[in-house]
Amino acid sequence: MTQPTPRDVSFMRVALEEARRAGEDGDVPVGAIVVDANGTIIGRGRNRREVCQDPTAHAEVEAIRDATRARGAWRLIDTTVYVTLEPCPMCAGALVNARVSRVVYGCKDLKAGAVDTHFAIGRLVGLNHRFEVQGDVLHDECVGLLRSFFSARRKNKVAPNELSQDEPLSETNNSSSE
Ligand SMILES: [Zn+2]
Repeated sequence: MTQPTPRDVSFMRVALEEARRAGEDGDVPVGAIVVDANGTIIGRGRNRREVCQDPTAHAEVEAIRDATRARGAWRLIDTTVYVTLEPCPMCAGALVNARVSRVVYGCKDLKAGAVDTHFAIGRLVGLNHRFEVQGDVLHDECVGLLRSFFSARRKNKVAPNELSQDEPLSETNNSSSE
C-alpha cells in the first residue's frame, strides 16, 4: 500500500468530473482516468453501461481503451489509473492485462470490489502482473456523489427494490456495485 500524494488528490478530482458526467447521462456516477509517468492524462472514461447498454462499459475499461488508442499500444506500462469507485473483478482483470502500474480509487465497493474488498487482484502472486493499490483518496466526495445519485433516483419513483442490485451505498452499509 502506497500513500496518497497531493498529485493523487488532484487527479482524483479529474476522475470525479468524469463521474459527474456519467451521472448526468443517467449512469451510476463512476469516472476514471489514466495518467502516464510524466503526469499527463492519456485516457479518460466514465461509466456508460446504461448509455451503451453494455455491461463492460465501466469507467476503467473506457479509460483503458482511450489510453491505448492514444498510445497506439495495449501495454499501459508506467501508468496510474484513478477511479472514483474500487474496481470490480472485470475491471481489475483489465487493469492487470493492461499492465497498469498503480491503481488509486476513491471509495470501496463492498458488493463488487476486487482490489481490496473481496479479492486482491493486483497483488496476487499467481498472476503475471501486479500493481500497487491506494484507496480512500477523496473518499467522502466519491461516496457523496454516489449517494446523491441514488437518492435522486429514489425520488423519481424508482422502487427501492429495483435499485437494490445496483445500489452502491445501501442504508445500512457502504456497499456498492457500479
Ligand atoms: Zn468494473
